Amino acid sequence: MECIFCKIIEHKQKADIVYEDKQYIVFKDINPKALIHFLIVPKKHIKTIDDLKEEDRELISGIIFLAKKIAFEQGIVKKGYRLTFNVGRGGGQIVDHIHLHLMSGILKNE
Ligand code: AMP
Ligand code: ZN
Repeated sequence: MECIFCKIIEHKQKADIVYEDKQYIVFKDINPKALIHFLIVPKKHIKTIDDLKEEDRELISGIIFLAKKIAFEQGIVKKGYRLTFNVGRGGGQIVDHIHLHLMSGILKNE
């Protein structure tokens, strides 16, 4: 399986990692669309939001709480931030491993 995010999770591909625990990894987007742009990625390989199963309920809600923690640690709570899941090609998803975009600073609407 060729998944760039799985490779980052396995530390076989370099990334600017800002947080890691048993279930998640957070790293800087290689092509940032905002001054601050992180990707919050569950280590479990799930393709998209549409592929979530009932058993993933805790994992996917935990990602929001992790976003809140990262935003606090990065000092962007006051400034504000955007959380985005792209789903499928029509939704702008390029990497087929579920991830939450955390962006702040000079955000442009598409
Ligand atoms: P999406 O369009 O929602 O699938 O978002 C995928 C994001 O992953 C894009 O914003 C890319 O810039 C980013 N990306 C792709 N490859 C890497 C990588 N090796 N390291 C960090 N970010 C990446
Ligand atoms: Zn993967």
